[in-house]
Amino acid sequence: MRLIFIGPPGSGKGTQAKLLASRLHLLHFGTGDILREAVRLNTAAGKLAKPYVVSGRLVPDDLVNELVADRFRRDDRPERFIMDGYPRTLAQAASFDQVLRQQFLAIDAVIFLDVDDEEIVRRLSGRWSCPNPGCKATYHTQFNPPAQPGVCDLCHTALIQRDDDREETVRRRLVVYHQNLDDLLAHYRSQGLLHTVRGEGDIETIYANILRVLKEGGLPC
Ligand code: AMP
Repeated sequence: MRLIFIGPPGSGKGTQAKLLASRLHLLHFGTGDILREAVRLNTAAGKLAKPYVVSGRLVPDDLVNELVADRFRRDDRPERFIMDGYPRTLAQAASFDQVLRQQFLAIDAVIFLDVDDEEIVRRLSGRWSCPNPGCKATYHTQFNPPAQPGVCDLCHTALIQRDDDREETVRRRLVVYHQNLDDLLAHYRSQGLLHTVRGEGDIETIYANILRVLKEGGLPC
């Protein structure tokens, strides 16, 4: 199966994509994770992407399109996958269509995880994580606070907030997201691939709704 997840930052699409990927044995392809790792390792792509990633702006289409196309043109290209965070613009969708056509691969469904902006701001701007590479625990000031504010329960390291989770950055990411959303949805709706799932509520309920939508679309899951 080949799926694309679309949703605002903090919609939980990463969590849902990982659950589904492990259930259906699909590769989880998260461009945000790939770009953050490239920034951390200071690769050539990472150097170019860094100013965009830390400020919550979209990395230029050419850079991210190349990154994805390279991966799909390799001998060990992904055959069954979930795209999480790509395509994010109409230009990316067009480029990805072309790459898939060249590879004789087709998308089975696009899941749009729909969450209101204010809910996103509440979720993301409260998110703190442990920078200790051996721990990486995450907390939320409202939903899952650490016992001692600002300190990891597990390893007692001082918690940090991801640069792109600060409230002003989250709001900027949402503006960018909305600028591209309608075109992206129209693109996949016109291909008959789009399924919308409300992304509010607990993880299990949203997951069950995604599975239901896929089954209703005749996809084995
Ligand atoms: P994410 O974790 O998916 O929210 O991605 C984190 C950051 O990586 C975004 O704010 C962008 O700067 C960058 N990024 C991830 N995927 C893309 C994409 N498809 N197009 C452009 N930038 C991206």
